[in-house]
Amino acid sequence: MTEISSTHQPAPRARVQAMKEYHPPLGSRDALRLDFNENTVACSPKVREVLARISAADLTRYPEREPVEAMLAGHLGLAAEQVALTNGVDEAIHVLFEAFLESDDELLMPVPTYTMYEVYASATDARSVPIQAADDLQFPFERLIAAITPRTKIIAIANPNSPSGSVATREQIIELAGHAPQAVVLVDEAYFHFHGETVVDLIGSLPNLLVARTFSKAYGLAGLRLGLLAGPTPLMCWIRRVLSPYSVNSLALACLPVALEDTAYLHWYVGEVLQARAEFESALDAVHLRRWPSRANFVLVDVGSRHAEFVSLMRAGGVLVRDRSSDPGCDGRVRITVGTREQMKRAIATFNQTVAALHLGANAK
Ligand code: PMP
Repeated sequence: MTEISSTHQPAPRARVQAMKEYHPPLGSRDALRLDFNENTVACSPKVREVLARISAADLTRYPEREPVEAMLAGHLGLAAEQVALTNGVDEAIHVLFEAFLESDDELLMPVPTYTMYEVYASATDARSVPIQAADDLQFPFERLIAAITPRTKIIAIANPNSPSGSVATREQIIELAGHAPQAVVLVDEAYFHFHGETVVDLIGSLPNLLVARTFSKAYGLAGLRLGLLAGPTPLMCWIRRVLSPYSVNSLALACLPVALEDTAYLHWYVGEVLQARAEFESALDAVHLRRWPSRANFVLVDVGSRHAEFVSLMRAGGVLVRDRSSDPGCDGRVRITVGTREQMKRAIATFNQTVAALHLGANAK
C-alpha cells in the first residue's frame, strides 16, 4: 500500500485545528477520589436496584426521553417544554454554545471557572472573554457588568463556581440578565445541593436565563452521564434542534425518577459532606494554610510553590487531589473534594503528614 501524503488528509475547521487538547487526569484512580468533585461513595441503593432489573430486551429499544423530561419538569416546578435532559451538563454546554455562538459573538465568563466552557467555546467562531476574579476569588460582578457589550451572546456562571466554591447572588444574576437582554445567562448549578440556593424558579420570568443541573455530583451518577438544561420555551426550542434525540441513554432515563424520589439518600450524602467540609476547613485553619470559603463539595487550598510534590505525596498516601495551578490566578492552589466524615478523617491525616513533610503552613521553617 502506498502512504498518502499528509497534505492530502482531510483538514478540520481552522478553529478546531487551533483547539488545545484537553485530557482530564482520569488514569489510575484506585484511591480516595478527592480530585473530580464526584460523590465519593455510591448512588442511592434504589437506583442500583433499578439497574439490576434492566433486561437485555430493554436495551434493544431506543431511549424515550419525553416522559422522563415531563416528570423532571414537574419536580422542578416547570413545564415539560422548559426542560431538556442532556448527556451530562457537558452536553448541555456544548449544545448551547453550538446553538448560539456565532462569529464575532462573545462568551463572557468569570475566571477561574469550569474548564469546559472555554473548551466548547474554542470550537465555535466566537471569542471567549475571561473576567479575572480578584485574589479573594469572589464573583467579579462589577467587572462582568462592565464587560458586557452588544456582542455578548452568552454569560456562563458556575454557581457555586469551581475551583473556588464562591457564589453569585440571586440579585447579581437578575441584574446581569437585565443588563444583557441579547445574551443567554447560563447559571450552571452543578453543585446546587451543597449550596441550597437556586434561580430555577426565575425560569420563564427572566427571558434569557438558562439553568443547568447535573446528576454527577450529589446523586452519584457521574458514570451514567445525566444532566439537564432548563429555560424559557422559546430558547429551549433552539436547544432541542441541536440536541441529539438519543443522547441520554435508557439506563440513565430508567434511573432518574428513582434518584429524584430517594430524597433520604440525597439528604444523607449532602449532610455528610457539609459536616465534613466544616471539619476539613478547621483542619486547614489549624495548619494556617490559606483556603477560600466554599459553598460546594470541595475546598481550594493554597499549598504554594511545591504544589506538584504536594499532589504526588497525597497520591502516595492514597488520596487523589487536583492541582489547579494552571487555572488563571490559581498558582500554587490545589482543589480537594469533600467526601464523607469518615473519608475526610483519613484525608486529613494524609494531608497533615504531607503538610509536615513539605514544611508548609504552620510547619514552615
Ligand atoms: N459544571 C461544572 C461547574 C462542573 O464542575 C462539572 C463537572 N466537573 C460539570 C458542569 C460537568 O457535569 P457533568 O458530569 O454533568 O457533565
